[in-house]
Amino acid sequence: MFRVAQHDRLEGRSRYGMKTIRLTAIGSPLEEQGIEDPPVGAGDVLIRVRAAGICHSDAHYRAGVSPVKLPLTLGHEVAGVVERIGGEINNFKVGDRVCVHYLVTCGECAFCRAGNEQFCPSAEMIGKHRNGGYGEFLVVPEQSVFILPDEIPFEQGAIMMCSSATSLHALKKARLAAGESVAIFGVGGLGISTIQLAKNLGAARVFAIDINPRKLELAERFEAIVINAAAGDPVEQIHEITNGRGVDVALELVGLPVTMRQAVQSLATLGRAALVGLTRESFEIAPYRELINKEAEIIGVSDHLASEIPVLLEMARTGQLDLSHGIIRPVPLEAGTINAALDNLEKFGDDVRAVIVP
Ligand SMILES: [Zn+2]
Ligand SMILES: [Zn+2]
Repeated sequence: MFRVAQHDRLEGRSRYGMKTIRLTAIGSPLEEQGIEDPPVGAGDVLIRVRAAGICHSDAHYRAGVSPVKLPLTLGHEVAGVVERIGGEINNFKVGDRVCVHYLVTCGECAFCRAGNEQFCPSAEMIGKHRNGGYGEFLVVPEQSVFILPDEIPFEQGAIMMCSSATSLHALKKARLAAGESVAIFGVGGLGISTIQLAKNLGAARVFAIDINPRKLELAERFEAIVINAAAGDPVEQIHEITNGRGVDVALELVGLPVTMRQAVQSLATLGRAALVGLTRESFEIAPYRELINKEAEIIGVSDHLASEIPVLLEMARTGQLDLSHGIIRPVPLEAGTINAALDNLEKFGDDVRAVIVP
């Protein structure tokens, strides 16, 4: 059993171990629970959480949109400091600043060996299949841990592990090539990363579509061509600006049938629509006009890869990926404020990114 140093034990805390904010019943607010300190195996790293992002997926878990086993400590976007290491760990030491790849995989199956480890049959996502970062500490195997460069604040390192990583994976799945145009449907945490990464990958024109004026303003600061979908059909607006051509790549980051349809409809000949947002609902396409005649493609995007994380960290370290500018709102490790942040995400509030800073 892991024991934190005596001086770390706060008055009243040793009563129950570590503080977590957990999902204990589907459809109900998260609750504060004390749980036993997690055991550290020989190949594990124990991390003192310094930042944990509050993600739209967490709102889905709370609402029961994606099934999870309860009780569960949510939180899959985590950065912190190594507090303790298992006996077989050589690559990390106590005190290292680190961030966490949220998938824990076997490393041995065909998918893992081919570098598509998100399909590993024994993959477990932290904060979904095993306890995550809405707590004081987190235990993960060494292969899920990456050194967080000093230049990157913990809050940014945390949210990069989901939103930015997924953005990069989506752009790669969509095979974005230099000189191509991109339309990004939804300017949340994912959208702001995607705008910047698309530009870094050489996109000639980046369109950002949303209905929230504050988010559009933010997109404009990152030099996207903004399209207010509340002011008229975004597909028509895109076709107007591109003289009827459409865009080479469209990314759907919202998770609504209407925006998925718009993403497909905004494609140029040989265009690729990558769907990232989650929904259980279906959407319609007109096969001949919207796909076959243009050899357009619809591509699913699931998670991201460990191999993409160092690329992302290097972009952030060198300032090519900037997640500052008031995009992050820190919140304490308290059930009330975390539930409120989740409520806000559910209502598509204009809160760009809430991050728990314990
Ligand atoms: Zn996330
Ligand atoms: Zn595997």
